[in-house]
Amino acid sequence: MRADDRRLGMDRPIARRDFLNGIAIAAGSIASATLPGVVTESLANEAAAPAQPNSYPPGLTGLRGSHPGSFEAAHKLRDGDLPLQAPGAAETYDLVIVGAGISGLAAAYFYRERKPSARILILDNHDDFGGHAKRNEFELAGRMQLMNGGTLGIDSPRPYGVVAARLLRKLGVDPIRLDATCARHDFYSSIGLGRGIFFDRKTFGADKLIVGVGMKPWAELLADAPLTPAVRTDIARLYEAKIDYMPGLSSQQKKEQLARMSYRDFLVNIARADPGVTPFFQARTHGEWGVGIDAVGALEVWPFGFPGFQGLNLEPGAAPRMGFSASGYAATGGSYKFHFPDGNASIARLLVRSLVPASMPGRSTEDIVTATADYRELDRHGAPVRIRLGSTAVAVRNVGDGGSAREAEVIYSRNGTPAAARGKAVVLACWNMMIPYLCPELPAAQKDALRYLVKTPLVYTSVAIRNWRAFMALGVHEIYAPGSYHSSVRLNETVDIGDYASVRSPDDPILVRMVRAPCKPGLDEREQHRVGRGELMSTSFEAFEHNIRDQLARTLGPGGFDPAADIVAITVNRWPHGYAYEYNPLFDPDWNEHEQPHVIGRAPFGRITIANSDSGAGAYTDCAIDQAHRAIEEVIAIES
Ligand SMILES: Cc1cc2nc3c(=O)[nH]c(=O)nc-3n(C[C@H](O)[C@H](O)[C@H](O)COP(=O)(O)OP(=O)(O)OC[C@H]3O[C@@H](n4cnc5c(N)ncnc54)[C@H](O)[C@@H]3O)c2cc1C
Repeated sequence: MRADDRRLGMDRPIARRDFLNGIAIAAGSIASATLPGVVTESLANEAAAPAQPNSYPPGLTGLRGSHPGSFEAAHKLRDGDLPLQAPGAAETYDLVIVGAGISGLAAAYFYRERKPSARILILDNHDDFGGHAKRNEFELAGRMQLMNGGTLGIDSPRPYGVVAARLLRKLGVDPIRLDATCARHDFYSSIGLGRGIFFDRKTFGADKLIVGVGMKPWAELLADAPLTPAVRTDIARLYEAKIDYMPGLSSQQKKEQLARMSYRDFLVNIARADPGVTPFFQARTHGEWGVGIDAVGALEVWPFGFPGFQGLNLEPGAAPRMGFSASGYAATGGSYKFHFPDGNASIARLLVRSLVPASMPGRSTEDIVTATADYRELDRHGAPVRIRLGSTAVAVRNVGDGGSAREAEVIYSRNGTPAAARGKAVVLACWNMMIPYLCPELPAAQKDALRYLVKTPLVYTSVAIRNWRAFMALGVHEIYAPGSYHSSVRLNETVDIGDYASVRSPDDPILVRMVRAPCKPGLDEREQHRVGRGELMSTSFEAFEHNIRDQLARTLGPGGFDPAADIVAITVNRWPHGYAYEYNPLFDPDWNEHEQPHVIGRAPFGRITIANSDSGAGAYTDCAIDQAHRAIEEVIAIES
């Protein structure tokens, strides 16, 4: 261990490891900061965590998301290296669903609406349900604190449609009421904290945090930033000047050009900014798109209020990919902005409560937030709906000829042991690129279409810290860090709901959210996702931890932050297969709808139908729900 590692606290016994000899370690309370032990990462990986019947997955720390134990069988299948014994006799159900994300759970819900006495088996490779909608639960100084491990908001570029809005209503979720009564969007500003930008020395030549974005003119804000005078001037001009950089063109002509150029090219070639502005803006698109400004179209960022467009007089109207329109979004209200403290994990938990009531105590939308799920109840013999975790589907086929088949079968691997389940139909609510490996008999064109969709890799890191006095001292609650390992850092948002109360005192522990988009500027978007995915799968927890400690130390050190003393737990939610792929006008053809890969890819195949947000080419919860509904309607049609 280097002296620097010690200074950062790499030797501290924090809650950071998933498994000690296969036994889950709950996130530590600060009062009892010494945990039952720390294992090395190699040991944690070797544990190859099977689903622990008595464990409480939301409380696990360390590498989560695609956690050790969840992906190995799938990767072996991909590599043609999965020798499985023949499974025993198949269990039989009315419906088997692969994937316990929002789409798979919603599919079970919709099927039971149509067939109330149906018996359903849901399989998922993770040790927790919810898919991307995962819950990170900590107990800090005796108090529950929650964060989303993935999906945060009940938001979408478009208003929720009839199907998804109705499901929310049925689950008792009224996002408008909840936002009005529970969200405290202005809490941090009410105590004088603002937004900041951290310039790191590797990218900008010096470490420097500047604070007051949106509160000061840009020239003043950037006065001490490690940028050249020309770059400072151009950033201020882009934000503040109302210049038409595309004179002589109609709004429509401008939009057509903007749709086909990256935001980087717009800044440098059209707005004629000094190329030195690029590193400053590069990561502005990371959170929403998972790639930098080299790979996101200028027209797409315009409705998000990115700078440089204010003098172009663009008429309101949809941007190509996200469906936002500058006035349309405001006029329709868009979708909702409320989120539960654990994000849409609460929606997954409400669905599970409806499907397997014994597993989830409580009755209300509010009490779902603090309910402790009983994971032993998820897969009870004889229950009408069973959710079987730690189970990776490795083969799916129609029993008999696709056209005349009366059943479909799933073979899955559970702790390396094969098992089979049959249903009158199977819904694949799993990731589209997995499906060609599961169903090699699919038509070649459909398999190509399914493979086309390369999901966006992302990391959502939750860091528990002892107090947030450093944030107070620096006057900041949210930091954009364009050159750093994680490109954003922010204090947990304030939501009070039911018995759950967010932190108010800077002397109390709190959770910090850090986001990383592992991308490779210069490549096309899908290639960037592939490279990023490889990076995530080959990064050890220690490497993540070192980067987290180093970044927080350099950013918050001037406010008194000591990473060795102040960090008490780390959960790295690693999503190598994150957002569903949304076509990118910079790189993808301008297909007609019926030619689009997600439309070709989701065609039913005998008794097998396909759900999941991939099959709607939209990385949103309403899309996952809508696709579940379509897949179930197809099942009903096949069965009748
Ligand atoms: C970091 C992150 C943040 C997000 N934030 C938001 C947000 O704020 N708002 C929003 O609306 N959307 C957000 N999304 C998008 C999110 O993906 C969707 O909202 C939605 O949760 C997708 O649900 P799904 O069921 O379609 O897919 P998933 O959640 O991916 O669920 C599919 C499940 O199938 C499992 N599976 C795959 N293959 C197999 C197999 N062979 N056998 C068994 N199981 C398998 C997967 O492991 C997974 O658990 C976010 C996504 C990520 C990654």
